[in-house]
Amino acid sequence: MIRTLSAALLLAASAPAASQTPPAPPVPVDPRVAALREAALHDQYAWEITEGLTTEVGQRLAGTEAEARARNWAVARLKALGFANVRVEPFDMPTWTRGPESAEILAPFPQKLVVAALGNSASTPPEGITGQVAGFDTLADLQAAPDSAVRGKIVFVSHAMPRTQDGSGYGYFGGPRRQGPTIASRKGAIAIVIRSIGTDYHRNPHTGVMSFADGVKPIPAGALPLPDAEQLQRILKRGRPVTMRLTLVSQAGQGRSGNVIAEVPGRDPSLAPVLVGGHLDSWDQGTGAIDDAAGVAIATAAAKRIRDSGRPLRTIRIVWFGAEEPGLLGGQDYMRKHKEPHWALAESDFGAGRIWRVTTKLGPERDEEAKAVQAALAPLGIVPGSREEADGSDIGPMIAAGAPAIGLSQDGTYYFDVHHTPDDTLDKVDPEALRQNVAAWTAMLAVLAGPIEPARKRP
Ligand SMILES: [Zn+2]
Repeated sequence: MIRTLSAALLLAASAPAASQTPPAPPVPVDPRVAALREAALHDQYAWEITEGLTTEVGQRLAGTEAEARARNWAVARLKALGFANVRVEPFDMPTWTRGPESAEILAPFPQKLVVAALGNSASTPPEGITGQVAGFDTLADLQAAPDSAVRGKIVFVSHAMPRTQDGSGYGYFGGPRRQGPTIASRKGAIAIVIRSIGTDYHRNPHTGVMSFADGVKPIPAGALPLPDAEQLQRILKRGRPVTMRLTLVSQAGQGRSGNVIAEVPGRDPSLAPVLVGGHLDSWDQGTGAIDDAAGVAIATAAAKRIRDSGRPLRTIRIVWFGAEEPGLLGGQDYMRKHKEPHWALAESDFGAGRIWRVTTKLGPERDEEAKAVQAALAPLGIVPGSREEADGSDIGPMIAAGAPAIGLSQDGTYYFDVHHTPDDTLDKVDPEALRQNVAAWTAMLAVLAGPIEPARKRP
């Protein structure tokens, strides 16, 4: 009884997705697909790419010479792996680079705090700015405040981002970072600091991009680590005026980014390609291991394994997108330059955790393939999700425009402990979870780009 009841409650809780797409009846898995999947559980390519990119290039801030070095590294590595049509599609972009930054409470309890500027923050003078802090528990509280409560002050906004497996807290609780600076500036604030959009209690601030709405005066905008944000909240709760000195120096300019593209040519070049990828750029503080060296590595390793096993029916196109972090610039440039249809799009950009679910939005003409992918991934502990949903950062605009896509959902429970912090480094990547990802992506590609004609042995 109780089990039945809780099952019913679970169904009710997930009713919207469940009613759209009832679970598919199991379908048999092509033994060749299963063999490729099992072999990929021993993959080394993804680790080698992740380790190589983070070690030999390190941070790869969009539009900078570091990202240009990363493109050169990518071209050399993709050629060395034997891919065809390796090329860079460059584009120009505005850049933003970080300078010295610090935060200090001057009164009533003098002490230093840790801070990091958000991408596109206005710069303070080198000596910083000083102001009284106006604190708000939520973005809604800031929005509701009269301008007089904010004018001439440094705004602080908190929030309650929860830890979730699917990362769904990031969209909602990311509001203070995305809209907070614009709202604060409109109300006359001289600067804003937010509680980091993150879930860890290390003293690492989480950076990330924000932009000011048209016509809004840019102000300095920074993020405090969770311990520092809670410290500031406690100080504010004492009820005495709180004065802060904030230094967030940065520089805006112009630079160049680019998408790095490589292919596994299909047997029938007239067929639409399957696009897989991730993004090459990273934030500037760590080495971008989980965001997103692991992502490009997973997609590329899977394509490499298909390439080495024979020739797929369809071309597999690998894209290492440039300049994702400042606002999906690589994805937008790709979409502008490539009007041709794609058979399916998939992007790995949610860390290096195990894949736990597969969702698809492939449309009715590929429904058999959607079911075949779900069946092929099930032995990896991957549950079938909706067949009317897919996601991805750089490919997001193309999905929104109706392109067919697939989403291999990684476990994001710990992703926002590290995301956009100095802690995004290679040691956070679990090699075994990485191999599970490669196995899933390899099986997915074997279905969507296949069948694969085995390579003929040379006489
Ligand atoms: Zn990313």
